[in-house]
Amino acid sequence: MTATRVLVLNSGSSSVRYQLLEMADGSRQAAGIVERIGERQSRLVHSSPASGGETPNASGGETPALASGGERRERVEEFADHDAALRAVARELEADGCGLEDPRLAAIGHRVVHGGQTFTRPTLVDDAVLAEIERLIPLAPLHNPANLTGITTARSLNPGLPQVAVFDTTFHTTMPEHAARYAIDTATADEHLVRRYGFHGTSHAYVSRRTAEMLGKDPSEVNVIVLHLGNGASASAVRAGRCVDTSMGLTPLEGLVMGTRSGDVDPAVVLHLVRVAGMSVDGVDQLLNKRSGLVGLCGDNDMREIRRRVDEGEEEARLAFDIYVHRLKKYIGAYCAVLGRVDAVAFTAGVGENSAPVRRAALQGLEGLGLSVDDARNEAEPEGPAPAGARIVSPDGAPVAVAVVPTDEELEIARQTYELVSEAGSAAHR
Ligand code: AMP
Repeated sequence: MTATRVLVLNSGSSSVRYQLLEMADGSRQAAGIVERIGERQSRLVHSSPASGGETPNASGGETPALASGGERRERVEEFADHDAALRAVARELEADGCGLEDPRLAAIGHRVVHGGQTFTRPTLVDDAVLAEIERLIPLAPLHNPANLTGITTARSLNPGLPQVAVFDTTFHTTMPEHAARYAIDTATADEHLVRRYGFHGTSHAYVSRRTAEMLGKDPSEVNVIVLHLGNGASASAVRAGRCVDTSMGLTPLEGLVMGTRSGDVDPAVVLHLVRVAGMSVDGVDQLLNKRSGLVGLCGDNDMREIRRRVDEGEEEARLAFDIYVHRLKKYIGAYCAVLGRVDAVAFTAGVGENSAPVRRAALQGLEGLGLSVDDARNEAEPEGPAPAGARIVSPDGAPVAVAVVPTDEELEIARQTYELVSEAGSAAHR
């Protein structure tokens, strides 16, 4: 039997999201989440299609959406740690007929947030790889430890199964030094690994490739600006399939205005708040990551609610929207300059895929750069189930195509994982 399935695991500190994908056709065979790991009342929600059909993408919402005609199982019990949680996931998959020992399972693909400068491609996990991910913990203290736990636990459940680490930073490792370095003392920067790494890499990779496909071109033939606008948000400039600049930096705090994160500020704001306002370093960290961005400006981080308030004439919401759009527009202009020639601008993630007002406002006045939306197309509801929502919203014959492309990070992780194990397998047979 050929192994054509990949289990994708996204392990957080107290949760694990998972999807089982069939690579022959990209269909989802199961999806789920375990939440509140380590608490008395952990919760596992598992959904699977009735008969091998499509299970909706489980990456975005709180819990996986229920496939129409599919099955949804929920369990509330104590999962003391990731080991207990993953064992429960394995039992659910087993009940669906594809457990971790199933010969159809080719590998497990793990999302890992930070790969530093070391990991420039998806990587088959061994002890040395685990040690390196551990060495990078100071760069992602909240995420890499949880990602590591997910990998070591999955490995112990089936030691023979290939485990592949797919890094959020990898897609951006092609950035040239002049885009990746901060203009600070080189010795200090190098000693402390301070440089621009970028995040959301699997999304930028997936969306830029899908956009090329929509234009009927090979990724090597097109230049694309990708705008990943979710609760976290980042932009990237992709030349011929390779990232040449991105808006997030050492951490996911730099760049665009986000749901709760400030994005770009004068670095001296931090010094001012510590020295003059007497805030602690942790206090400033909290402020910039959790109480800034849209929520800091108007109390809401959901773009739907903000638009409702704007439509009701609320000034505070209007200003928050305008600041969000102004920053976005600056990055679009900057990346037009970085790329020189732009073939497409692609909007993705919660806001990018769903908010016609954000897309329209971000491109308003940029006709001189060849950028505009067709209002009817921009405002039309996407047709068909995701990911069929991918569509062009610029006018016919526009110099630059504007695309809305639903992202699919799990599919991208699965694709990269499968490619790697298939290559490794064929190399072993040669
Ligand atoms: P994500 O992080 O990609 O899941 O995106 C989450 C964000 O998408 C939410 O915080 C909302 O601001 C935004 N969002 C989701 N649905 C819509 C919608 N229909 N219209 C506008 N914004 C939306």
